[in-house]
Amino acid sequence: MKVIYSHSFYPVYTSDPAAKAGRIEAVMNALPAGAELIEAEPATEAQIALAHTMEHIEFVRAEGLYDIAALAAGGAIQAARLGLKAPTFGAIRPPGHHASDDSCWGFCYFNNMAVALLALKHEGLIETATILDFDLHYGDGNVNILEHRSWVTICNPTSHTRDKYLKEVKTFIQAHPADIIGISAGFDHHVRDWGGLLLTEDYHAMGRMVINSARKHNGGCFAILEGGYNHNEIGKNAAALMEGLSP
Ligand SMILES: [Zn+2]
Repeated sequence: MKVIYSHSFYPVYTSDPAAKAGRIEAVMNALPAGAELIEAEPATEAQIALAHTMEHIEFVRAEGLYDIAALAAGGAIQAARLGLKAPTFGAIRPPGHHASDDSCWGFCYFNNMAVALLALKHEGLIETATILDFDLHYGDGNVNILEHRSWVTICNPTSHTRDKYLKEVKTFIQAHPADIIGISAGFDHHVRDWGGLLLTEDYHAMGRMVINSARKHNGGCFAILEGGYNHNEIGKNAAALMEGLSP
């Protein structure tokens, strides 16, 4: 499993929980054996502008967060590009699924998933994409930027029991094969995180569902980090997903 990361993701860049010290370290310290690290490279402004207005890009720049947000978006592009060949995980932050084209909230600045999929589409590398967003919170930014594009399908599961949640994900994934499946991987729905629902093994199970569909339809898959705030749990949950995604 290739893992995109950067030491630049380690320092605290704002006071919000997604930037809290130790968060990326918790993921990096729990990587499955054989993980291959790849240094993140920033997205270009032109790539970011595929998903965002210039006004929003200037807003992020004025906040002093352009460089770290562009690095996360670039890491997402790398994860998606490599994901066309083999499952890849982006251990990136700030997260992105609450960033819309012209606004953002919820610890997000640039929409990493949207930038990644739009960049691949722009390069002619994909025709269709499916997004599984299993973060506790509804990924309004993914939806706002991508929902009206007929080549993208998005699932934000809503079931309130584990069994139903996993069935909902399985049904969706099986019904929406695509050239690439991108996972907005927030781990805040874990039983010992804010959402209090999913077990570590459920992230493994969802990873299997995604890789099975990708292999069946000759597509790619990748995951990028969104939420997840219990540093004692996020590492093993991310590792469970990576192991589930492994061919
Ligand atoms: Zn969340």
